Amino acid sequence: MSEKVTTTDFNDLFVPCYAPLSPIFTHGKGAKLWDQQQREYIDFSSGIAVSCLGHNHPKLVTALQSQAEQLWHVSNLYTNEPALRLAKKLVPASGLDRVFFCNSGAEANEAALKMARHKAITQYGETKTEILCFQRSFHGRTLFTVSAGGTAKYKENFGPLPAQIRHFPYNDTQALEQAVGSQTCAIFLEPIQGEGGVHPATQEFLESARKLATKHNAALIFDEVQTGVGRTGTLFAKDHYGIQPDIMTLAKGLGGGFPIGATLATEPFAKTLQPGTHGTTYGGNPLACAVALAVLEEIDKPAFFAQVNKQSQLLRQGLAKIDPQQTYFTEVRGKGLLLGLELSQPLADKAMEIVQVALDQGLVLLVAGSNTLRLAPPLVLTEEDLNKGLYLLEKTLQHFQKN
Ligand SMILES: *Cc1c(COP(=O)(O)O)cnc(C)c1O
Repeated sequence: MSEKVTTTDFNDLFVPCYAPLSPIFTHGKGAKLWDQQQREYIDFSSGIAVSCLGHNHPKLVTALQSQAEQLWHVSNLYTNEPALRLAKKLVPASGLDRVFFCNSGAEANEAALKMARHKAITQYGETKTEILCFQRSFHGRTLFTVSAGGTAKYKENFGPLPAQIRHFPYNDTQALEQAVGSQTCAIFLEPIQGEGGVHPATQEFLESARKLATKHNAALIFDEVQTGVGRTGTLFAKDHYGIQPDIMTLAKGLGGGFPIGATLATEPFAKTLQPGTHGTTYGGNPLACAVALAVLEEIDKPAFFAQVNKQSQLLRQGLAKIDPQQTYFTEVRGKGLLLGLELSQPLADKAMEIVQVALDQGLVLLVAGSNTLRLAPPLVLTEEDLNKGLYLLEKTLQHFQKN
């Protein structure tokens, strides 16, 4: 028997940069989770839009187990078969030319930004370094990515921050047009902002960003860490818009719960990073790549996307039924199975409280900003679990009506 552990141990031992909610989950299956007391939960969070194939998916378990018996790690002094196989599937699917594997979203974005800077400086000189970013955006927690992010609090007391990063209102085409110039190195954005409240870009905004980046020899970088790999009902969110970036980053859903990140780029951007310019010890780790390949094989099929879009529709219809008068939500935003529910006035800024009450009811939800509930269930969610989750959400919201 292993020793009993509790959240008190967390409070005693961990760096307190997290404040975990009370249940400790011990196992899961599909869109269901169970805690130490064997209590069942419906998971509408997927571990923050990560577990796209749910918990304990048999194909992912098999992929990990069989790779575990072959080879775990050799470093990037060598390549390995799972990494090569994953690249052969992922690179053509992205419409880009090359890939750099790493371990997280922040690391994928760090590589993207370094790539853009390196190309701009080596090709055009020291003054082409400005990176244009957007309010409410989230790109990770390294110093470079937190500086690119749109949340002031995440940067406070960590300075000096990397220079030449400016922020503009998202979806403001005019502001972007005015900002771009010969000094611009990159335009860096999420095609659908996730953490910032689930805000999709407008078609016009992305088209304009594409044109401006091309005109000024700047990189258009799409952060698809949250939106990539089927989450929005297409393989990548960019597919909704038909707009191709120069660099695209992935992580979260790519490993279905096993840590992996990827930076994909066109040839001119990729080739700037020659041997010795960038790297990471675990990037392209065989275990991670074997799992990610299994994820892609499962997801990258028209029938799979059709199913995601069907569940998305059912979810939206269910939400409309729960809230016919917009008592709870003023707006439901997003695409596929990434939905943001903007809270109405009586519930304003109660997102975290709602998450807590939902958890007491047996439903795992997410917030996105202080005033938006975020739903990101596993893409393989069954209709039964979807309806159960909606029922628990309704019960949760009714609790707030009484109080
Ligand atoms: C989660 C997220 C990141 C950061 O990913 P980590 O794996 O936590 O470093 C970056 N960009 C977006 C859009 C994200 O949602």
